[in-house]
Amino acid sequence: MSTDRPVLAARGGELRCKGWRQEALLRMLENVLEVGERPADLIVYASLGKAARDWPSYQRIVSLLKNLADDETLLLQSGRPVGVFRTTSDAPMVLSACNNMVGSWQTPDRFYALAEAGLTIWGGLTAGAWQYIGMQGVLQGTYEVLRAVAREHFDGDLAGRWLLTAGLGGMGSSQPLAATMAGAASLTVEVNPEKLSRAQDNGWLHEVTDSVDAAITAVTAAAQERRPRAIGLLANAGEVMPELVARGVIPDIVTDQTAAHDARFGYLPSGLALDEWEASRAADPQALEERARSTMARHVRAMVALQAAGAVVFENGNNLRAQAREAGVTDAFAIRGFMERYLRPLFCRGIGPFRWVALSGDTADLAKLDDIAAALVPERPEVRRWIELARARVPVQGLPARSCWLGHIERARMAEAVNNAVASGEISAPVLFSRDHLDSAGMTHPLIGTEAMRDGSDGISDWPILDALLLSCTGADLVAVHAGGGGYSGFMQSAGVSVVADGTAHAATRLRRALNSDTGLGVLRYAEAGYDEARAVALNPASNLHWAATTATTEGDA
Ligand code: NAD
Repeated sequence: MSTDRPVLAARGGELRCKGWRQEALLRMLENVLEVGERPADLIVYASLGKAARDWPSYQRIVSLLKNLADDETLLLQSGRPVGVFRTTSDAPMVLSACNNMVGSWQTPDRFYALAEAGLTIWGGLTAGAWQYIGMQGVLQGTYEVLRAVAREHFDGDLAGRWLLTAGLGGMGSSQPLAATMAGAASLTVEVNPEKLSRAQDNGWLHEVTDSVDAAITAVTAAAQERRPRAIGLLANAGEVMPELVARGVIPDIVTDQTAAHDARFGYLPSGLALDEWEASRAADPQALEERARSTMARHVRAMVALQAAGAVVFENGNNLRAQAREAGVTDAFAIRGFMERYLRPLFCRGIGPFRWVALSGDTADLAKLDDIAAALVPERPEVRRWIELARARVPVQGLPARSCWLGHIERARMAEAVNNAVASGEISAPVLFSRDHLDSAGMTHPLIGTEAMRDGSDGISDWPILDALLLSCTGADLVAVHAGGGGYSGFMQSAGVSVVADGTAHAATRLRRALNSDTGLGVLRYAEAGYDEARAVALNPASNLHWAATTATTEGDA
């Protein structure tokens, strides 16, 4: 075992558990560490998103999964196993609650103290629920946003345009690739030279420089020549953005994906060298946070100025605006969020970040899964286009996986086709289906997923809780309820789900029930909030949804 990559996911057809449902979850736990950012510390992504409480908890989870019977359920409390209960063979194998704290206790300071005391972890969204698949998990979301930006602002075409952004971490490293796939040139600012080298080695960046002049020259030349070229710049984004404003250099599109949600661990303040960061955190964490927020304030002021100068600017789900507002930037929310601005119409139809993982580890299985997905929804040609782009451009990280934005009914159709292919042996081993928590039913985050809801229900977290409760009744294999953590404290409540297609009739039923319930509730959440797109889906007989509001109206008992 190497200390920096202590876990690799098992591959092949051999089972270490009593069945594939348990084996699949064990492989996913291993996989999030195989592809994670700091696996030796169990950190998967977003600076602090963890897979398990600590290494003894990890070892214990592994051993419990190996011995778990089909009618038993393992309970996890913030990444620590607390017990195995006799349930039924239709119940989840694993139930996980992670970092949920009552209302006003959800503050960063309480979180850091409880995490330090070993009582909680932040599971991110997909880290503690073992669903992270590397940067691909967010790649299509970024790509879809850029396509929406193209449609809305640039006559459908990003050739000749350039994107300015920052952060090449677990999620952020998807940005230059998404920009290239969407046809734009890009400049990504990053403080850590290792992240820049990794992105260049993987082909996501075409060139890297530490000179602002050289970076601007390269990216503007690429844009002029309509070449989708990705440039990386070793610098602090909080310094570069104001510098561009001062020089009058206006990008076409501006966003950011530093881990700004966490002022202590995720965003390097201006004037601090990377190798001074840890010591500064240990010496005076509050002072460090203040410095980070003050840099974020300058960063966001520059973004607001770039927007005023004509750039298309949006926040990319990292809470940067809220941090800047806390540091006194009263107009931080003049910048809109990517979700409500560009992705909500898709969520209204239950279309969101679905994903599947070939548990065999065999890329030939991924190719077959891609074939099935490409042929699945001919009425939405963008699905085939995405699959073709992804299979050509997206590298395999860990167990071969594909993220693919599918909607209500579509996900269950995909899973059913795959379950049949597993049963026939066309696919060599079972396949796990899951999704990001930032999905239509799975997320309440009033500054990201549910910002500016039409009915004002932004912060109501009944929806992900209902989603998790419902999913637990459908036969899903893992159901998770996550919240808070770091700078996210008090802002987020989410639900996650994983279901395994092992080729059995039992799996076929559970897949259909779980996936249709999950997207169905998402559609109803947006229908209830007053979105016409969601209401149209909810009322379409093909959706097979029983929207109680409609029943009330038609039965005259409202
Ligand atoms: P990460 O911690 O793995 O990476 C953050 C990167 O930012 C690091 O490489 C770090 O060196 C760099 N960085 C920090 N301060 C910087 C600065 N001042 N200037 C330039 N670079 C700096 O985090 P991640 O997993 O990439 O996630 C990034 C953010 O995106 C998080 O806030 C996360 O919560 C959010 N997120 C958004 C979505 C979405 O759907 N848009 C999905 C997942 C995560």
